[in-house]
Amino acid sequence: MNEMTSIAPQPDYSEAARKALAREAALFINGEWVRSTHDKLIPVYDPSTGREIASVVDASVEDVDRAVAAARTAFDDGRWTGLAPQQRERLIHRLADLLEANIADIAELESIDNGKPRSASAGYDLPRSVATLRYMAGWATKLTGDHVEPATFPTGSLHAYVRREPIGVCAQIVPWNFPLMMAVQKIAPALAAGCTIVLKPAEQTSLSVLRLADLIAEAGIPAGVVNIVTGMGETAGDRMVRHPDVDKVAFTGSTEVGKLINRAATDTLKRVTLELGGKSPVIVLPDVDISKTAAGAARSIFANSGQVCIAGSRLYAHRDIFDQLLEAVAENAGKWKVGPSLAPDTMMGPLVSTEQHERVLGYIEQGRKAGATVLSGGDTPGGDGYFVNPTILVDVKPEMSVVREEIFGPVLTAQRFDDLDAVAKAANDTTYGLAASVWTRDVSAMHKLAAKLKAGMVWGNTNSAADTSLPFGGFKQSGFGRESGRYGIEGYTELKTVAIAL
Ligand code: NAD
Repeated sequence: MNEMTSIAPQPDYSEAARKALAREAALFINGEWVRSTHDKLIPVYDPSTGREIASVVDASVEDVDRAVAAARTAFDDGRWTGLAPQQRERLIHRLADLLEANIADIAELESIDNGKPRSASAGYDLPRSVATLRYMAGWATKLTGDHVEPATFPTGSLHAYVRREPIGVCAQIVPWNFPLMMAVQKIAPALAAGCTIVLKPAEQTSLSVLRLADLIAEAGIPAGVVNIVTGMGETAGDRMVRHPDVDKVAFTGSTEVGKLINRAATDTLKRVTLELGGKSPVIVLPDVDISKTAAGAARSIFANSGQVCIAGSRLYAHRDIFDQLLEAVAENAGKWKVGPSLAPDTMMGPLVSTEQHERVLGYIEQGRKAGATVLSGGDTPGGDGYFVNPTILVDVKPEMSVVREEIFGPVLTAQRFDDLDAVAKAANDTTYGLAASVWTRDVSAMHKLAAKLKAGMVWGNTNSAADTSLPFGGFKQSGFGRESGRYGIEGYTELKTVAIAL
């Protein structure tokens, strides 16, 4: 135990969690729990304590091939695609009901595995996953094609229509920051569209998705429709992306890996959607309510310990209120109670892994060396887990790595601006383009900035109004394609034109 710590001990795990952790490591293929073709395992750690608590299978290439074969057969024989859409809708709703009934247990497991506060897993990640399943279930019976009147044929001589069909077998690869929520965000629309799935959770956080597999079976979703393969990205993930029987790859993760995946998928011209990194600006005009805005700015970078692709990591405050706002954000940062995931008063848990811990502390050090001033945090509160205090850096310059690169931790950089054109230029001076927020009561300035910002999502007076019905995704190197809403499910379909001479 680290002596110099203000971190409380991790409370004991519940009986249900201990049981889940003691499960034999296995893969979920063709509706069954199966062993790997080899005996390689990946250790699982509790980021709040650094202790090894379980292990999951490190799937082999042959394991992935088995999973893809199961998904291929399940797609081709029509056991899912051939169902009445209402039957698919009902089964997805049943899965939502089961997930809802198990929120407490799965939220605990998610928090033990990822480090996020249990209040966040139980209050946000899990309910949001249930909502996504319910929303997408409804689309199963709403997706339609079009009847088109051809432009160059005499009217009535050609009967033409456009069918919207499921793409086929989907390889879905998700990251560790919202393990279950990201998995459900991919599985739900694919199921509703009639696709079959091989999903790989991140190697650091597979436990909640493995529990989801139990519920998928219990809901009665036919065998082979959803297959869950745990394992490493460079081996299992890479095989999924290159497999000739996979029709679409849906990936959420880093921009670096997104580029690798896009290249690898090119050989077989798979459909690809990429939800990648971000370095999102938070723009504060001089007319705001300082304390409310400071709380919003703090939440946008400290929630989930900053391990959020849409985290508002670059604060731009108008010169007239910069000092006052930063003082309020620093005061707010002090209120984010750092602690182990299961302690009831924890607001910010540890980072997910020792690698991430080192990476984030390394960035703070780089910032310091480059001349940034640490206004608050900048260090670890100690403990054996991977904790970093909420950190604010001022006196930063646009060329510093802390301003340019995605840190994926609780680190905010703050800069001043004088006018709308200048701040739009500064905000857009990034290779990313995922999200942005604008804080003002000036409606005209709000809409002007919303139009100028190069980002897939612009929020006004809030930091992350993501909703199951609203498209989610980025411009530039934050990826392409959109999740959620009608656009999300359409990403799992192909268009087929049918034209019949009458
Ligand atoms: P990562 O890219 O390292 O890993 C993500 C997933 O990809 C994991 O499952 C991993 O095993 C797999 N993977 C790694 N290498 C692979 C390869 N060569 N082939 C196939 N799969 C491979 O990212 P991470 O560190 O797990 O997550 C953090 C990143 O995810 C951040 O950059 C963050 O911004 C991004 N993210 C984006 C969104 C979004 O919607 N835009 C959401 C959450 C996270």
